[in-house]
Amino acid sequence: MSYIGEKYDVIVVGAGHAGCEAALASARMGAKTAVFTISLDNIALMPCNPSVGGPAKGHLVREIDALGGEMGRNIDKAYIQIKMLNTSKGPAVHALRAQADKKEYQKMMYDTLRKQENLTVRQAMVDEIIVEDGQIQGIKIHTGGIFYADAVVITAGTYMDSRIIIGDLLYKSGPQGFLTTDTLSKSLRDHEIELLRLKTGTPARVNADTLDYSKMSIQPGSEEGLHFSFENSDREKAEKNIPCWLTYTNPDTHQVIKDNLHRSPLFSGVIQGTGPRYCPSIEDKIVRFENKDQHQIFIEPEGQDTNEIYVQGMNTSLPEEVQLEMLRTIPGLEQVEILRTGYAIEYDAVKPSQLTLSFELKNISGLFTAGQINGTSGYEEAAAQGLLAGINAALKIQKKDPFILSRAEAYMGVLIDDLITKDTTEPYRLLTSRSEHRLFLRQDNADLRLTPKGQELGLIKKERFDKFSQKVEDISREIMQLKQTKIIPSDPALKKLVTDKEIPDFRQLVSLYDVLKRNEISYQDLQSYGIYEGTANHEVAEQMNIQIKYEGYIEKQLKQIEKFNKLESKKLSADIDYSEMAGLRKEAIQKLDKVKPVSVGQASRIQGVSPADIAVILVFLEKNKRTQHG
Ligand SMILES: Cc1cc2nc3c(=O)[nH]c(=O)nc-3n(C[C@H](O)[C@H](O)[C@H](O)COP(=O)(O)OP(=O)(O)OC[C@H]3O[C@@H](n4cnc5c(N)ncnc54)[C@H](O)[C@@H]3O)c2cc1C
Repeated sequence: MSYIGEKYDVIVVGAGHAGCEAALASARMGAKTAVFTISLDNIALMPCNPSVGGPAKGHLVREIDALGGEMGRNIDKAYIQIKMLNTSKGPAVHALRAQADKKEYQKMMYDTLRKQENLTVRQAMVDEIIVEDGQIQGIKIHTGGIFYADAVVITAGTYMDSRIIIGDLLYKSGPQGFLTTDTLSKSLRDHEIELLRLKTGTPARVNADTLDYSKMSIQPGSEEGLHFSFENSDREKAEKNIPCWLTYTNPDTHQVIKDNLHRSPLFSGVIQGTGPRYCPSIEDKIVRFENKDQHQIFIEPEGQDTNEIYVQGMNTSLPEEVQLEMLRTIPGLEQVEILRTGYAIEYDAVKPSQLTLSFELKNISGLFTAGQINGTSGYEEAAAQGLLAGINAALKIQKKDPFILSRAEAYMGVLIDDLITKDTTEPYRLLTSRSEHRLFLRQDNADLRLTPKGQELGLIKKERFDKFSQKVEDISREIMQLKQTKIIPSDPALKKLVTDKEIPDFRQLVSLYDVLKRNEISYQDLQSYGIYEGTANHEVAEQMNIQIKYEGYIEKQLKQIEKFNKLESKKLSADIDYSEMAGLRKEAIQKLDKVKPVSVGQASRIQGVSPADIAVILVFLEKNKRTQHG
């Protein structure tokens, strides 16, 4: 028996990493929002690795925070260790990574959701979307309730018609024993939304009390006050530092796997869904890297007050007894006991080429999708999409233009553009190498790139924006002061510095700005050698070290971005009929008609569209311009 429930501006389906961000952004932008999720016990659940960040993912979390999203603040409250990766490499690939206390992370996120104004959090299974004349009307839940809304954001993750696979055991379930449903998939198909079948997997969780850490090497975090959220820039030292551990597989491990490959659903064909290339199962690794006689295994605590350990690097869907046998060959795990068996999960996802750059479906106005449902893999990728979809759902009901980030502005822009133009068929994971402008899209300057936009959207509070404006002022003041402060080569303090650093002397009067251009010299050196009484805080000093040292490269990148923006500014309307464009190849016509690129720049990134095709489009645009202007 159905009934009509409360009317909302925006309804979000699912409170995973995408759903939480979407719901908070929409409510904070003033839209009356409700989030319906299968269980209040799996809000912001981390069904796989207990960590946030790492290369490219850390950049995304910083961008989410800079725009006013929640993930950065939440992990800063719930990590058990944090560290900066790749510090021996250039700043473009420096990346924060934190080990999360999973339960604490969920609790903190749920607290934030239930305290948020304009937001209702409900436990319910959404079975259907309601659409009329190509316009979303609302949803129907399993108890019969019908809830109307002007915009709906679906963030159903790995729960759509999902099934668990362990050896030859298959059963319908969401992750970690939560419910799944095939009704929502059916409803989306009924509205001509194309779905993909994808797969991912997770390793066993084992009992910490059954491990022998003396056979592993300790992997502590940093003691520094590292933080994802720019709101926590004044942190002096790490809140927690619970170690992880490193061990390795060995030929015995590999032999157990080889002897049981015929029982692996991956190789027996039981698994149909396409898995993530960058998170391979251990079976995959043994087959793909046959000559390697060991693989790294990280032992990661799932939290402070739990004996659950995540065995990173041992994703598998092999039968349970094989999992135990292979784990017990690993140094330190000889007596190990399994708490949760590793498994693979197959689930339905939406083909991302059906989306616009604002995450709205092209064929249903007001319907948005975000997260793993769009074919990505990872908490961070999901949260970034959720934030942008939530923003755009609120803008939609406020009848404002969509908020779109380009590839030159943010990794978020790279992610959505890749999803649409590359028409992803396997779980997409963000990498820094996917960006053409990675020296400009660093994790340290995410706020300089995005916080003003977050403030315009109403997602950055006044106090925070004032602090940010002060930082911007401090940066330009400091640069000016360093440029104006000159020093002679014979200055004793400078002499001592170059001697200690074993670098060539300066030959003439130089500005401290030029002194800082030397790779070996940091802003902190100028202070500690008494050469400069700079007052910059840690973040401003970091900008001095990066912006000055990489000035030439950054300028070159900004020129490339200018060139990139030129092609992006050549707009293409959605109703162009590419089959009428003489000279376009058949494959290009099909791809262009499917993706409906918004610009020549985006058209040039569609797989199957060649530079020759782009030349045809440019001629077409030029001709059109001339006809229009007579
Ligand atoms: C087994 C497994 C292994 C994974 N391995 C990796 C990995 O190795 N690397 C990696 O980067 N990522 C991995 N992930 C992916 C990672 O978990 C996801 O990327 C991330 O959780 C996606 O976030 P999301 O918000 O899109 O979806 P989810 O976190 O899946 O959240 C979806 C939410 O929607 C709710 N929901 C779903 N359907 C409905 C409905 N009909 N009605 C109401 N609520 C609904 C659910 O209750 C849930 O709260 C793995 C996930 C799983 C399950």
